[in-house]
Amino acid sequence: MIELYDIYKIYKMGDINLYALNSVNLKILKNEFVAILGPSGSGKSTLMNIIGCLDTPTSGRYILDGNEASKLSDNQLAEIRNSKIGFVFQQFNLIPQLTALENVELPLIYKGMSASKRHKIAKEALERVGLSDRINHRPRQLSGGQQQRVAIARAIVTNPSIILADEPTGNLDSKSGEEIMQIFKQLHSQGCTVVLITHDNHIASQAKRIVRIHDGKIIEDRKIA
Ligand code: ATP
Ligand code: MG
Repeated sequence: MIELYDIYKIYKMGDINLYALNSVNLKILKNEFVAILGPSGSGKSTLMNIIGCLDTPTSGRYILDGNEASKLSDNQLAEIRNSKIGFVFQQFNLIPQLTALENVELPLIYKGMSASKRHKIAKEALERVGLSDRINHRPRQLSGGQQQRVAIARAIVTNPSIILADEPTGNLDSKSGEEIMQIFKQLHSQGCTVVLITHDNHIASQAKRIVRIHDGKIIEDRKIA
């Protein structure tokens, strides 16, 4: 479970305090599928970075599965990130020189897994995103939608319980975007908690709950039937 209590993120710009997050309270239960919806600059990425333990709030409490983030060391935070969370970004962040399979294997190399086991698990992840026939392609030989699917395979290859996706369809045409949404729906139905960041109403409407954020504040939180 993700629990945020009275979270502030304040950037000091000269004499001015910029409130990127302004008293955010949010609880996301295991296996929810939540869209965080808001315009550019509203604080979506700031929020995602805090949820993903990539950044820390200026004040407030963040508790992930019972662990209070502010009480953990950098190593412990990294361990939580690597074991619990799969990240997907708008720019796919693939390594251009590596094949799809090698890109997906990367998190397993960091875990120290043997090569044969790695290949097997990475192939299975690529299968789950429908890319079994592209495992030896390099990123530039793949379409944008296919590159994003490789990035999702890389995010899920360690079996994270939470998927955090920041504008995952932002660089894609609508058809590829829909394909990516189908994969998130599938991951949700398989038990993942999915937190999807978007400025797009149509994309957000495919989640089960929409949290709207504006100027660093949550202005609406509703379930979708
Ligand atoms: P977008 O849809 O354009 O990605 P966003 O909702 O993700 O926007 P954030 O990136 O979270 O927005 O930024 C929220 C606010 O905080 C913005 O006003 C931004 O300018 C400011 N901000 C973000 N990072 C920093 C930083 N490192 N230093 C100063 N201000 C920052
Ligand atoms: Mg952003």
